Amino acid sequence: MSDTLLRSLDLIEPGDLVHYHGSITDRHGLYLAVPCTCRWCLAADHAGVGSPRYVLLDPYGEEDAELKVVAFHVRRRSIKRSDASA
Ligand SMILES: [Zn+2]
Repeated sequence: MSDTLLRSLDLIEPGDLVHYHGSITDRHGLYLAVPCTCRWCLAADHAGVGSPRYVLLDPYGEEDAELKVVAFHVRRRSIKRSDASA
């Protein structure tokens, strides 16, 4: 029951696996989400406008390569926490 409640809040923690369903339709899929810390997003956050933005990382990259960034400044409503992360 409490797990269901937690899910309904749908909070996204840094490193969570999320499903992207936003405007870039050819990028729809599963990614790791971390907060976008670019100057624009931080400025917007500081000003209290809009919702948190995220950077999406490709979790299926080369083993010894750095995680590849798929998208910056992704709106919260464009991603959904994946059940696969539970
Ligand atoms: Zn940003």
